[in-house]
Amino acid sequence: MKNSSLDFGPVAIASPLPRRSRQAKVVWGSRVVTVGGDAPVRVQSMTNTDTVDAIGTAIQVKELAQAGSEFVRITVNTPEAAAAVPYIREQLDRMGESVPLVGDFHYNGHRLLTEFPDCAQALSKYRINPGNVGKGDKRDKQFGQMIEAAMRWDKAVRIGVNWGSLDQELLAELMDTNSRRSTPWEARQVMYEALITSAIESARRAEAMGLGGDQIILSCKVSGVQDLISVYRELARRCDYALHLGLTEAGMGTKGTVASAAALSVLLQEGIGDTIRVSLTPQPGEARTQEVVVASEILQALGMRVFVPSVTACPGCGRTTSTTFQDLAKQIDDFLRAQMPVWRVRYPGVETLRVAVMGCIVNGPGESKHADIGISLPGTGEAPAAPVFIDGEKAMTLRGDDIANEFHRIVEQYIEKRFGAGVPAV
Ligand code: SF4
Repeated sequence: MKNSSLDFGPVAIASPLPRRSRQAKVVWGSRVVTVGGDAPVRVQSMTNTDTVDAIGTAIQVKELAQAGSEFVRITVNTPEAAAAVPYIREQLDRMGESVPLVGDFHYNGHRLLTEFPDCAQALSKYRINPGNVGKGDKRDKQFGQMIEAAMRWDKAVRIGVNWGSLDQELLAELMDTNSRRSTPWEARQVMYEALITSAIESARRAEAMGLGGDQIILSCKVSGVQDLISVYRELARRCDYALHLGLTEAGMGTKGTVASAAALSVLLQEGIGDTIRVSLTPQPGEARTQEVVVASEILQALGMRVFVPSVTACPGCGRTTSTTFQDLAKQIDDFLRAQMPVWRVRYPGVETLRVAVMGCIVNGPGESKHADIGISLPGTGEAPAAPVFIDGEKAMTLRGDDIANEFHRIVEQYIEKRFGAGVPAV
């Protein structure tokens, strides 16, 4: 017989390739967050508050951390912003939030890190953009001052190259070399080379000054999906520094989300990338935490991390006559996500919970049985009854106008029973 397992053997199970970077550490107080090697791929984010507004910035940092961000970057662009950094740190510590803070420096980082030692100390990592540390003779000196600050305070650095602020002197030099080739490379290949060279040469310079290789993380951000994949494949081939991934200026809404997911997923599946950020432009009224939600969902969808309980919901079709099941799916999803900052502590393992909310009998009972807890709502022409399945068995049937609230309560009771104190998480 053809086309059977006898001919082809079992289907290979897909999983991300092992990562190949060395491990780095980012530390605040007793909190040590490992990056690279066998550490989980970490989620990062960045505030969009004015850093001078220490309280407002601390509140947003906490929100991002509670949403799942494991480092939060803040702009440090002026003496006033540098002076605010220790107060932001202090405020966070007072709120019981130990997420490491990363300072984003451009142009004047060498001065700010030297003149504001409390700022240098309060940060856990410095982001240095080699394209924005100075020109000509000043470039190496000012870069060196930032590395000296990292060594003095024992901090990690991210050498973050960005094609929007690429070292123009290096690019001109590589363009010049290219023009002398018998078969010149494409302009974009020269740009790739400049990004990678800038990152790796800067990292080697930092190591030559005495900074540990385990204190260095690299990134080379571009805004095109195929460009990002090309650059990071080569960057990962040429060095073993921990790598931060992100599609810079990803854009808004669906476009930014899809482009980021497409680019990051390809690289993560190939074992490339140790921290990620999704650089979404918030839509009017959208929470800044949306970028953390998307980054976490990318890792969760790839099966690399588990952050929040998953809600499986069908898309609905002509068999559904109302939006009841869509509303219920959204309510449950929002509810589970909102509870996570507290539940993470109270119910260890709750993030592995799988909930199903289905629209009709076609796939409803089957999908609900695969989940830990699922509900199959009645579709068009079906009796107005919603069977609930718990751990694969039909447990009860809900009827009437209050199905949503009843299901809500059943989910809460299940979580308390399965993940509550004294009951070991499965
Ligand atoms: S489960 Fe039912 S309502 Fe949902 S998409 Fe499938 S057939 Fe349509």
